[in-house]
Amino acid sequence: MPTSKTPPESSPQEEMSEKDSSAVDPLNTINKKILSVFLKAIDSAKRIEICQECDKYLKLAKICSECNCFMPMKTRLRKTKCPLEKW
Ligand code: SF4
Repeated sequence: MPTSKTPPESSPQEEMSEKDSSAVDPLNTINKKILSVFLKAIDSAKRIEICQECDKYLKLAKICSECNCFMPMKTRLRKTKCPLEKW
């Protein structure tokens, strides 16, 4: 007697996991874009070290007197530059 077996149907949980793996997570994409704006902390620390040695740096306010920026924030942003090209 011929036995023709049909493939077992996948469970709803299996179907969900298949969809999840192929779908693009919009939150993950947004997070990556936001994080790409910032430098890694170690690179930011190098910039801050340079500023702390600079005569334009107002240590108490943590502001650069050349560009008037708040340096703990400016040094974290990837596309920012020192106005005197020190970093
Ligand atoms: S950004 Fe440049 S000019 Fe301003 S404090 Fe830092 S090193 Fe000095």
